[in-house]
Amino acid sequence: MRLRDVRELGLRMQHRRILWNAQIDLTNRCNEDCIHCLRNTDCAHELSLEEIKGILIQLKEEGCIRLILSGGEVFLREDIWDILRFARKMGFGFDIKTNGLMISRNNIKRLKAIQPLSVHFSVYGASPQVHESITRVPGSFERTMRAIRLCRDNGMSVLIATIVFNNNFHELTSIKKMAKEEGCDFIADFIIMPGVSGERGPLRLRSTEEQLKSAFKRRLLTWGLNNRNKKYRSGRTLDGGRSSIHISSNGKVYVSVTLRIEVGDLRQQNLREIWRNSPKLNWLHSLAEKDFGCYDCRDKTVCLCRRPDLAFLEHGDLKAKPLEICRINKIYSDYHREKEQAYARARQG
Ligand code: SF4
Ligand code: SF4
Repeated sequence: MRLRDVRELGLRMQHRRILWNAQIDLTNRCNEDCIHCLRNTDCAHELSLEEIKGILIQLKEEGCIRLILSGGEVFLREDIWDILRFARKMGFGFDIKTNGLMISRNNIKRLKAIQPLSVHFSVYGASPQVHESITRVPGSFERTMRAIRLCRDNGMSVLIATIVFNNNFHELTSIKKMAKEEGCDFIADFIIMPGVSGERGPLRLRSTEEQLKSAFKRRLLTWGLNNRNKKYRSGRTLDGGRSSIHISSNGKVYVSVTLRIEVGDLRQQNLREIWRNSPKLNWLHSLAEKDFGCYDCRDKTVCLCRRPDLAFLEHGDLKAKPLEICRINKIYSDYHREKEQAYARARQG
């Protein structure tokens, strides 16, 4: 299934509020030390194999068909192959997020046999210097690229995801080109969030105005996706928690990876109870469009907007205006206006 088809299916499920997709952090441990990492490092007592199996059974009973298995680094779990085999036996389609450092010729056939829908790798640069300035692990670029090629050569679908910072922006075109040459899907994310515990450090890495204008010009960043998907979105205010949830490595349930509002605890409650009766989830979905700061914004027809996760991390209030989206939208509007003025001048002259 192509990435676009998965997104389309997700939007339809959101509309009907069917739990079809869950992201599970299998561990919080990691063998990289990325400068922007969002994982909650104080999350002790990770779920045991038996607990994870129990959660997968509950997810299946609730109708979930798709998983995103992430971490930390999932392959640091000693029982990862048991988990993957169990998920496969249960009939889930799943994507695996990994930095690839532990994928090698010794285990690639095992991974192939598990048949993940796709394997997602984060690549932050087209050169070791830039990539490793972010992962802070010498040699990680080489090892990640080797894992990407091993997966690809063994017939797996591979996605390269890049988070765009002001210090790797200059390599973005090269990363995109590299992904194409390697036969991988590619996505770039420009939205740098504060850390889940409110850390502001990652914000200094946000792309500058000049970089964002250049990204619009070179079509490295598209804007206005919200409007494109309008027909599925009418009457909704939140994506997370409508058809998907996020389960942390200690069994706490959140609306999504980035909307860190705890809605339940799988060590205390069962999934059905959380999904159907969580007061917080019900409250979130009772919110109407007019409750949000974006409601009366005159730019909302062109803006990506509706990022309650970002607003929550920025202000502790998911209904507030997500200021980073406002910033990017303003840069986009200025860029667009300048382009139109230049076009008008060219026509006159
Ligand atoms: S690889 Fe992922 S989990 Fe590990 S440090 Fe980097 S961002 Fe965090
Ligand atoms: S994110 Fe900002 S610019 Fe966009 S619609 Fe909301 S308030 Fe307006």
